[in-house]
Amino acid sequence: MRIPLIAGNWKMNTTVDEAISLIREMREGLDLITGVEKVVCPPFISLLTVGEIIEGSSIKLGAQNMYYEERGAYTGEISPEMLAGLCHFVILGHSERRQHFGETDEDISRKVRAALKAGLKPILCVGESLEENEAGITQEVVTTQVKAALAMVRPYGELIIAYEPLWAIGTGRAASGEQADSTIGIIRQVVSELYSKGIAQAMPILYGGSVTSANIAEFVSWPEVDGALVGGASLNAAEFLSIVSQTVSIKGGRARD
Ligand code: PEP
Repeated sequence: MRIPLIAGNWKMNTTVDEAISLIREMREGLDLITGVEKVVCPPFISLLTVGEIIEGSSIKLGAQNMYYEERGAYTGEISPEMLAGLCHFVILGHSERRQHFGETDEDISRKVRAALKAGLKPILCVGESLEENEAGITQEVVTTQVKAALAMVRPYGELIIAYEPLWAIGTGRAASGEQADSTIGIIRQVVSELYSKGIAQAMPILYGGSVTSANIAEFVSWPEVDGALVGGASLNAAEFLSIVSQTVSIKGGRARD
């Protein structure tokens, strides 16, 4: 049985003061919900403070990116080692990084390897564009991305994959639960071929893209979907709490065959 996971990607939102208010609003409620991993990913500048506020709770902390080198003349970058003392998770290969900052599959592969070496758990994002979706090549695209990102990861290191179709991120146009389930099934098959069936069956694979409290049930009621990477809706404490608690009640109680 895989433990469901809901991660909130705050993106480039919240000043330090706003991050403090947001985490204070959700801390107690989130801490009380068991049977699901809860991860919040604030901007770098708030990691320390948010980490102090959630200390002693069951909420985990993640970063939104990192560089793959250990240290040196890389102005403005953050290393795996710097994050390892602050948080457990790191989002890597998010489509906004691929799109706006030119991250390549090779960069992402280096980052995944470096994160694992530093003891961080990567949340690796993959997903197809609207054109690729319409051309019917979703399967090929995500297979290539997963293989490329894991190319330098031998032997296997513990990670999470998030299937995030680009056309669904921040657009209000989510995929259907069935689409998410079938693509995640393909990703699990790729992981199984790369490593082993056991590793693939144990790996949490999430859906991401316009998830809200109104549609989370549609995703997590499918057996391959182990939770969600939530962007916009994670900036609202009540929304995020509802997403997390619905996930537990659905995953704890029933799953579609
Ligand atoms: C994301 O940032 O990974 C994301 C899925 O964003 P949103 O939920 O806002 O679509």
